[in-house]
Amino acid sequence: MPMQPLPSTHPWDDDDGFHEECGVFGVWNATDAAALTALGLHALQHRGQEASGIVTLADAGTASAKFNAHRGLGLVGDIFGDAKVMAGLKGRSAVGHNRYATTGETALRNVQPLFADFEFGGLAVAHNGNLTNATALKRALVRRGCLFQSTTDSEVFVHLIAISLYANVVDRLIDALKQVQGAYSLIALHDGALIGARDPLGVRPLVLGRLGAPEGGAYVLASETCALDIVGAEFIRDVEPGEIVLIDNDGLRSIKPFGRGQSRFCIFEYIYFARPDSVVEGTPVYATRKRIGSELARESHVEADVVVPVPDSGVPAAMGYATEAGIPFELGIIRNHYVGRTFIEPTDQIRHLGVKLKHSANRPMIEGKRVILVDDSIVRGTTSKKIVEMVRQAGAKEVHMRISSPPTTHSCFYGIDTPEREKLLAANHDVEEMARIIGADSLAFISLDGMYRALGRPGRDASNPGYCDACFTGDYAIPLTDLEGHPERVPALLAANGQ
Ligand code: AMP
Repeated sequence: MPMQPLPSTHPWDDDDGFHEECGVFGVWNATDAAALTALGLHALQHRGQEASGIVTLADAGTASAKFNAHRGLGLVGDIFGDAKVMAGLKGRSAVGHNRYATTGETALRNVQPLFADFEFGGLAVAHNGNLTNATALKRALVRRGCLFQSTTDSEVFVHLIAISLYANVVDRLIDALKQVQGAYSLIALHDGALIGARDPLGVRPLVLGRLGAPEGGAYVLASETCALDIVGAEFIRDVEPGEIVLIDNDGLRSIKPFGRGQSRFCIFEYIYFARPDSVVEGTPVYATRKRIGSELARESHVEADVVVPVPDSGVPAAMGYATEAGIPFELGIIRNHYVGRTFIEPTDQIRHLGVKLKHSANRPMIEGKRVILVDDSIVRGTTSKKIVEMVRQAGAKEVHMRISSPPTTHSCFYGIDTPEREKLLAANHDVEEMARIIGADSLAFISLDGMYRALGRPGRDASNPGYCDACFTGDYAIPLTDLEGHPERVPALLAANGQ
């Protein structure tokens, strides 16, 4: 059989996305499991807007146990807003997934949860994160005769489970997890249990909650606490890095097959990705963003008349900035909520158009004023450039850009979508040049230590940062095995930074 073409190592390449930022949700033994899952996925819509899927399990533990599935392209409300679809998703347990992939083929075959029938029965798997040795594993699996149905890295889990020689499903899953490298928060459902697992460094989030009456304590797993809130579940705790939780009719069991390591939770979840009303690793995202804004104001003060957030992602940081600086906060830019995130548009041309469609200047708040604009990050610089131009056109006297993250100098390989290094503005220009490129009178980013201070630490401890901050430092804590097979990319991606 011919080798399948190797998947792209980056979504900004032409090949179908091998990178996905996603949302996952699962529930065990509750009435209306599918409806709860659809609600949870709706609350996690910001983690992926391309596609969604739900797999339910009916009559668990009986001879007539049956999995039902529905997957579709688009938003959760569009896919699961249909009564007939929901009526087909029978069962008291369910797992769901929102997919975010940025370029290439938008194919139903890539929409999760993935499902496969094994000797032990059916298994549905929903994965958030990105595996860094998936290409190597896939190559080996294809050689062994595994037939891949999709181009998502998550399918590697399914085949590793299938070929494992262990007898029961949990041991097979552990066997699979021990072979993969990368970031994963996953939820699996089989006839017997709902399983949650986080990679040993806990890069991507996963939380555990419990439904109250009338469900009598049914457990829920979700990417973020905002998905627990929407279904009325009480937050219990984060699933720990390297932990596997097994939820069945006897309750909850925890397995830690990897021992204890350093945790490296993704710091970008705090900066941009998580919803502001979520509590991540015990810390409210909204409050953290405000604290980052205050730190930023202390570090990079400038005389101005008004602090204006780039909505929505810059809002909490701008509030923190304005309070700390004692400068009025105004909504000087209004966002049109009926346009998707600019980042998702695949071509530069459409991306430019997207920014214009998405943001408008609120002229009376800007005209004749010295404006501090606050956004969470500069990636390619497209958004900042357009916004600065728009604010100038609206009559601003000065435009000062403040960014609530350090310069994004490195691509993420663990599940946050970022372009290749060549396209990252901060990888190729110093701050002064960047200011000139985006057309701002001044530009400042929060320092690395300032960001850690906002997270309650004294600064960044290089020997144990506690977070994955590779996008700002190039400190990749998990091996980038698949990149090693692409020597043409390694110098550009890593070596240039002395790694
Ligand atoms: P850019 O226009 O390429 O500089 O992108 C920066 C803008 O995209 C900022 O306003 C961010 O809020 C947003 N952004 C940053 N990272 C991501 C991401 N991984 N996915 C979607 N949007 C992002």
